[in-house]
Amino acid sequence: MKIKDIELFQLEIPLKKPFSTSLHTVKEARNTVVRIVADDGRAGWGEGSPTEVITGDSNASIRGYIENCLKPILLGEDPGSLEKITSLVQDSGAGNTNAKAAVEMAVYDLFGQQLGVPVYQFLGGYQNKLQTDMTVSVAGVDEMEKDARKAVEAGFPTLKLKVGKDLLEDLERVKTVRSAVGSEINIRLDANQGWQPKEAVKIIREMEELGLDIELVEQPVLAEDFAGMKYVKDNVLTPIMADESLFSPRDAIRLIKEECCDLFNIKLMKSGGLSRALMINSVAEAAGIECMLGCMLESKIAITAAAQLAGARRNITRLDLDAPLLLAENPVQGGITYQGPQIELPRVPGLGISQVENLKELR
Ligand SMILES: [Mg+2]
Repeated sequence: MKIKDIELFQLEIPLKKPFSTSLHTVKEARNTVVRIVADDGRAGWGEGSPTEVITGDSNASIRGYIENCLKPILLGEDPGSLEKITSLVQDSGAGNTNAKAAVEMAVYDLFGQQLGVPVYQFLGGYQNKLQTDMTVSVAGVDEMEKDARKAVEAGFPTLKLKVGKDLLEDLERVKTVRSAVGSEINIRLDANQGWQPKEAVKIIREMEELGLDIELVEQPVLAEDFAGMKYVKDNVLTPIMADESLFSPRDAIRLIKEECCDLFNIKLMKSGGLSRALMINSVAEAAGIECMLGCMLESKIAITAAAQLAGARRNITRLDLDAPLLLAENPVQGGITYQGPQIELPRVPGLGISQVENLKELR
């Protein structure tokens, strides 16, 4: 099997409601879809979901990088030589993690189809049933309470609350949601870099004293502030998870060496795809750090790839793969299926994506 063509499309999907973090508000998912066609007629699917404020990518940069830097070196290559292809992709240049992730995904899809097994199986095959949390956008206290109740009614045992706006209000948000959903629901927080280190220690300690029972706090401080994250980790009991500070396997090694955090959040759009995500997870597992698999506003294409990885490895113990549930439409046929928070991986070869509708041709 040889790679014959790499096709690019635009995919635009409105959200059920605007999605807000401390960094930005989004009303629509605008992603780049990659379809790699092999000379035997098979096709592999991939997707890049740019979040400018985190990865610096845009749809235009994803397209440009794939067209100019990845396509020329991958045409004619055999997806069966997976290590060679992922090396070509990763060594092609710096940054551009969305473009690399999208292309790698499609290659893993073809590789799985060639082998005749689902991606999660050849990556480790640990389990094919998973459970995701549900994210609650940062908003006014009443709205967050309403959204949290809705998620619990829909059967989600774990909520991820977006905070990081303002200390007093953040505390109010968490207190209100905890009293609304009761003690049985697992609550994790994501500050998306919104706090100063000392503010983070103050508010997390207060939550601990109030018995709000927070499972973990994601990225309390600025991505570059490794010392600040270590300060927070050393001064609270609640586990601290690195997200925006963790892109590459090298970041993982540094976070481990400098003892900055207790947990990792891996996202394909940050790592540059499955190969580097696997590497980060292995480094983490060796260091005794469990990983969550998270996402950007991806459709079921990229989320299926992330879920395939999560199902493969024992050390990926938490999932934040709710993006398709935030979208008003699902243009993707095949891939994972949701039942409330339960995710089931497809049992067909590759990623299991059969068709994608509403794709806009480019140029
Ligand atoms: Mg996060």
